[in-house]
Formats: sequence, C-alpha cells, structure tokens
Amino acid sequence: MKVFIKKHQYNYIKRCLNDLSNTYKTCSDSNVIDAFKSYTQDKILNLFTNLTEEEKELLSLNKITDPSYINNYLSDLNQYVYGMPVITNAQIGKLFKKEKKLKLPDLNQENSKNVYLGWIDKSTNKLFVAYNMDEKLIGMACRITSTDSKKANICSLCNCIHVENEVAFVSPICKTSNASEGGYKSIGFTVCLDSEKCNDRIESIEKLEDILKEVNNIK
Ligand SMILES: [Zn+2]
Repeated sequence: MKVFIKKHQYNYIKRCLNDLSNTYKTCSDSNVIDAFKSYTQDKILNLFTNLTEEEKELLSLNKITDPSYINNYLSDLNQYVYGMPVITNAQIGKLFKKEKKLKLPDLNQENSKNVYLGWIDKSTNKLFVAYNMDEKLIGMACRITSTDSKKANICSLCNCIHVENEVAFVSPICKTSNASEGGYKSIGFTVCLDSEKCNDRIESIEKLEDILKEVNNIK
C-alpha cells in the first residue's frame, strides 16, 4: 500500500480520534459511543474518494474497541501520510529571487511531512512560506508586523487560538497585475510563528491556498 493520506487530512483524523477518546472518557453508554464512532468513521471516510479495500481497512475504526487502541491506530495511519515534495535550496532561491540575502530554511525534510514549509528570517523579520500548489512551487515573503499582542489570536492557517508571541500579524509582499496603474495591494493575516507546530495542526488547505493565490495574483 502506498502513501495516500495527506498531512492535513491526517491532522483532521487525529482531532476526530481525540474527540472519540474524550467520548470514551466521559460517556458510559455503549450505544452513544458506538453512534459517535460511526459518525467519526463517516467523517474520516468522507475525506477520500476511490479508496481501495486495503485503505478502507486501514481507516476502519472497528479495531478500536477500547480507547487504548487509538494511539496504535494513529501510528499505523502515520506510515501512509505524505507531505509536500522534497524541495531544494536552489528551488527556494529561485522562488524568492527578489529577496536580498535570503535566509534559507533548515531543510531536514527526509522524515518531515509538511503541508507547507515555513521559516523565519530574524534579521529581516520576515516569515517565508513555500507550498506546492497543483505541482507548482509558490511562496510568499511576509513582513512580521507585531508579535507582542496580549490578546488571544487565531492562526489563519491552522485555525487554533494562541496567546502572546506564538502568533504574529504578518503582511505578505503581494504581486500585482499592473503596478504602473497603482495596482498596490496590501493584505494581512495572523499566523503561527512556529511553522512546525502549525503543520501538525492544519486541517484544511483552503485558507492557505486562498492567501497564496491572492499574494501571487493567481486567478
Ligand atoms: Zn497555525
């Protein structure tokens, strides 16, 4: 069986299973647990189209007869998870060729399953994002505008609520179709500063792709 679960789908399954685990802990009625399990199973299967029998078997929650099986289930699944393709520093250099003295990320991607690659250049106070959209590498360089907010904020990519300096408001440098006509565009969003943790939480790529399309002027 080949890898077939995208990283963000795995993150979603992980959260569903966490909810199931909580149901086991807080509920003693086996009918309720079974109903919740079957609801969870539907949510998981609905992530995919054209599953093989073998893949369906792997995703089946029938083997979870007790919450102690949940960790095994997730680690079995983890073997079939894949992230973005391995990229090189040369590709990154090309992607951000307008950046002077670009700081390259620490590319230890052998075992890392990333939805996107994110890294910070402290000297220029920028967050860089690289992502593979429809087989094409795209990216954005974002100015970090504030990191000291005391309010809780929601990361636009992983949708998690964070406090203080875990997230920052950033504004990407946008490409516009016609700069001479004053095609200036400014957008901003809140994002996790720790991209590795964000990658372990992100459950949907919709927002990430929307932002990248807007920044790169992709219609
Ligand atoms: Zn995040």
